[in-house]
Amino acid sequence: MKKQFCLATLAVALSVNAQTLSSPDGQLSVTVGCDNGIANYMVVLGNDTVVRKSPLGIKTNMGDFSKGMKLTGSTQPQSVSESYTLPNAKKQNISYTANEATWMFNNEKDKPAFSVTFHVDNNNVAFKYDVKAQGDRRSCIVTEESTFYTFAQDTKTFLCPQMTPQTGFARTAPSYETFYEYDAEMGKDGWGRGYTFPALFKVTSNTLSNKKGQGESYIWVMLSETNIGGNYCASRIVSADTQSYRIAYPEQSEFGGVGSTAPGLMLAGANGEIPHAETPWRTITVGRTLAPIAETTIQWDLVKPQYEASKEYKYGRSAWSWIIRMDASCNYDEQKEYVDFAAAMGWEYLLVDAFWDSNIGYDRIEQLSKYAQSKGVGLFLWYNSNGYWNDAPQGPRGKMHRMIDRRKEMAWMQKAGIKGIKVDFVGSDKQQTMQMYEDILADANDYGIMVIYHGCTLQRGWERMYPNFVSCEAVRASENLSFGQHDNDIEALAATIHPVLRNAVGNMDFGGSALNKHYSKDNKRGKTRVTSDVYALATAILFQTPVQNFALAPNNLDDAPAWAIDFMKAVPVTWKDMKFIDGYPGQYVALERMTGSKHYVAAVNAADNAYVKEINVPANVKEVTLYSDDANLNGSVKQVKVKKGKVKVTVPKNGGAVIVY
Ligand code: CA
Repeated sequence: MKKQFCLATLAVALSVNAQTLSSPDGQLSVTVGCDNGIANYMVVLGNDTVVRKSPLGIKTNMGDFSKGMKLTGSTQPQSVSESYTLPNAKKQNISYTANEATWMFNNEKDKPAFSVTFHVDNNNVAFKYDVKAQGDRRSCIVTEESTFYTFAQDTKTFLCPQMTPQTGFARTAPSYETFYEYDAEMGKDGWGRGYTFPALFKVTSNTLSNKKGQGESYIWVMLSETNIGGNYCASRIVSADTQSYRIAYPEQSEFGGVGSTAPGLMLAGANGEIPHAETPWRTITVGRTLAPIAETTIQWDLVKPQYEASKEYKYGRSAWSWIIRMDASCNYDEQKEYVDFAAAMGWEYLLVDAFWDSNIGYDRIEQLSKYAQSKGVGLFLWYNSNGYWNDAPQGPRGKMHRMIDRRKEMAWMQKAGIKGIKVDFVGSDKQQTMQMYEDILADANDYGIMVIYHGCTLQRGWERMYPNFVSCEAVRASENLSFGQHDNDIEALAATIHPVLRNAVGNMDFGGSALNKHYSKDNKRGKTRVTSDVYALATAILFQTPVQNFALAPNNLDDAPAWAIDFMKAVPVTWKDMKFIDGYPGQYVALERMTGSKHYVAAVNAADNAYVKEINVPANVKEVTLYSDDANLNGSVKQVKVKKGKVKVTVPKNGGAVIVY
């Protein structure tokens, strides 16, 4: 890992009223200024204004720095670059080159108030605030942030409404589990409390819309944030007016009403750099296609590992009884049946879900773990996160929220050979909660335990910050396919947005790829799957997380097509690289993932018309394996000759296609 700084040769305007920082390729730029005492910024791609002039500012218990500001200067742009590896994310070998500069603002008394550092690479703009100590202060409370994102009025939005705190199952909301709005108008505010990150906007291009042959006529913009553990709260965006969204902090009623909505912030003071003395990075990913968004690594470029991995974590495929058989399946005999199923699939893990403490017990979990290990299968155990913030009755309860109890539990896990935990029902973005997420990860690493979070916030850079982090749910996931038919009816529609939005910013524990026709043990009752078997295979590729809890069931060894089972036996869950191919959220999506030796191209379609696409393959590939559906969603697999470097796929509504070579 190396980080290099060198002076760049960028031209900088001499005036301090407004200055521009450009990306290395010169196409993407941010202009920072100050008008009428309000700091502001603007993002431009080519000749298109992407984010219009929008306020910057911060309100603290030391002073209100959202007005009365004066821009006093900026640093010379610096080129920053770095290469690093991530074994647990969508890309393994990552490198970036960007330009950075910092703008300084004084308050009404003409004393330093804050600075804003911008980081601009060819597809991302990111910024963070450094609040300046006032007098002897070495800490402050940030009561409000005046960070705005202003777009043209005709911009379309793809947003996920923030849930109402202390609602949902057993007061476990918010947990990023609502339906996205697609192609919606600006000015909406979700359920009255804004939207979760990541947030997607489609901005009409001023320069290209009327000229043919110059590429897309709109620009995709994704807003998110990164580098948040216990150092800050997580944020959302709320509607400020018909053209603007602004950063909002958590609501008081989150986390059972316990804990502050306002983050506390260390101040660097005169002693120079202090870790976490700045706000998190807010990120703006920009592209004329969705490729820069689906492929972005900005969430990891701007963070650092917070501790060393205590061992080499091994990722893999996982069986999971709960999604098909629910709570009743959490007994020794059925979990043993699922161990045998995981072993038959050649999978590495089994996730034992809620109520194992009462239905199986600690002694027999040790037995189950021993049995599983003899079959080459490791166990993940479910835990209720709660202490004092929700009413979820599922056990084990009260084991994760306090360090002393947690470490005792993890010492037992280590002895019993448990490989990971899934911690559920958190329901808050407060700083106190973010600290708990971080603390559980740090303690788990001491005992060699991997961590999946459910009913939770969105991770913000965690794949790189915490090496034993596997994934967050933070999506309306497969459990809803078991709970309601509507989720099944729009399953494919929802799947078209995740690879280019939610999953673009981090690993996603969706728990999908069911091959049952019905969500029940006998596969006759329960909610009905309307997607095809090839769709199930395609989403195993499209949805990425390094420990995938697949919804396959033991009966699928007999009742699912042999080609589907064989595919799922061999399916990878760790990848060297990925590439966006095509897509429009709400209609269809196609992308490619690579293991190093194998390429998988996967597509699904939610539109009424079949999705037809010529997929490019390298010149040396003469033949590929193609999994595809006919018009009636009957799947099959065949070897297909490559014609002129292309393979044609046709994907009917609710169907899928996968190319392997
Ligand atoms: Ca959930």
